[in-house]
Amino acid sequence: MNIQNYINGQYTNPISNEWIDNYNPSNGEIYGQIPNSSKDDVEAAYKAAKSAFKQWSQTPIEERSRIMLRISELIEANLERLAEAESKDNGKPLWLAKAVDIPRASSNFRFFANAITQFASESHESVGLNAVNYTLRQPIGVVGCISPWNLPLYLFSWKIAPAIAAGNCVVAKPSEVTPMTAYLLGEICTKAGLPNGVLNIVHGLGGSTGQAIVEHSDIKAISFTGGTTTGAHIARVAAPMFKKLSLELGGKNPNIIFADCDYEDMLTTTIRSSFGNQGQICLCGSRIFVEKSIYEQFKTDFVNVIKNQKVGHPMAEETKIGALVSKPHLEKVLNYVEIAKEEGGKVLYGGHKLTIEGHENGYYMEPTIIEVSTDECRVNQEEIFGPVVTIMPFETEEEVLAMANKVNYGLSATIWTNDLKRTMRMTKELQAGIVWVNTWLMRDLRTPFGGVKDSGVGREGGFEALRFFTEPKNVCIKY
Ligand code: NAD
Repeated sequence: MNIQNYINGQYTNPISNEWIDNYNPSNGEIYGQIPNSSKDDVEAAYKAAKSAFKQWSQTPIEERSRIMLRISELIEANLERLAEAESKDNGKPLWLAKAVDIPRASSNFRFFANAITQFASESHESVGLNAVNYTLRQPIGVVGCISPWNLPLYLFSWKIAPAIAAGNCVVAKPSEVTPMTAYLLGEICTKAGLPNGVLNIVHGLGGSTGQAIVEHSDIKAISFTGGTTTGAHIARVAAPMFKKLSLELGGKNPNIIFADCDYEDMLTTTIRSSFGNQGQICLCGSRIFVEKSIYEQFKTDFVNVIKNQKVGHPMAEETKIGALVSKPHLEKVLNYVEIAKEEGGKVLYGGHKLTIEGHENGYYMEPTIIEVSTDECRVNQEEIFGPVVTIMPFETEEEVLAMANKVNYGLSATIWTNDLKRTMRMTKELQAGIVWVNTWLMRDLRTPFGGVKDSGVGREGGFEALRFFTEPKNVCIKY
């Protein structure tokens, strides 16, 4: 099946008529093609967005909100179809797409449809000077949204929803590896009555289509989620044009387990935070540190549970872990297992590619647990972004805190403990944008979301996102 760009409310072929193959990770087969869009397609998308801007930015908030709520409802109504598309494109289990990805995409539109009705700005009376200041929060104009493949519609809509809620028009590019649900979103937006040109979706490669969005001199803000190297490149391109940037990048998150935690709860959640979505979530706790007194017990229990996590075809009901997203990605992840061995790491479980009967060319691998003796090895420092975790013991709070912070990344961290004072100390000291205590990936969409250090710049979520997608203007009136 060929998918098309969505520009000015119409589905169109790329101007050059060039196409890229789209692979199904569950069986390694090409099942469609996507536009290999050029600068010209991005320009067409920009023009459509630009001409829609005046009217959209002047559309009453309540009307914008109503349209966005309709988009949210239509996503929900198309749950089965969207979840199947997501699972086929990405390799994630169908149940996961149904339970998480698609409902969350719907929530993103609903959340920002409501949030915009509550978005307000400050005013300051300059006492004694007979003046009043207020802040106008105006939409930026045409903005660019670029998203990755791990949570395709979930992250695509997480950017688009606040952008359009705030009155901007958008040129958006999903990952070329998982374009399908973004393609289907176009038709949903049209059905919901989103005016033509408010959202334009161009498909294609990062280095050409994505680059053209970032380089476009009149696209004034870029919201990007993806790898740290790409983020650094985008920052270099955008800086001389003084674009507003929101960069949500990689992670190498610690999962710190103290002996006084609620053990069963910790174990169940740690399985999810290690291998959920095949370990392809930027928030996964891929470095597990366990207090020495329970280390051996944890190791045994963790391996025993993992042994029973079924790796299989994404559409099969009993599958817990599906296929990795692409062949190059699978190879990259497997290569890290070799690096771990060379560095003296001990593979406690997994480490191999798997062949699933009937789907022999799919990109499957075993969930993998590597015991490391130093936190400074590459597998403990570099983002692997697959079903691979490292584990090692620690003795003191100071020691584990130092190891947790001794990476270039700073996206999220998890602590398992029932000690309140320790919780208070550690949550302050951990270098991360998000700290979970006795839970993982519990999200309230009003909270600021993002990372420090190489995990990014800026915050998404709640009013932070609406602030990003608006330009504050101070108006000072003397009377
Ligand atoms: P990626 O950086 O390769 O690609 C992300 C997007 O950027 C894709 O749409 C791609 O086509 C585009 N792109 C690539 N080069 C570009 C360029 N020169 N100019 C403009 N756009 C370009 O990342 P990926 O492999 O798709 O995703 C995995 C990465 O995303 C991991 O590092 C993961 O941690 C990160 N991630 C971060 C978050 C977060 O919220 N911090 C969430 C999910 C994923």
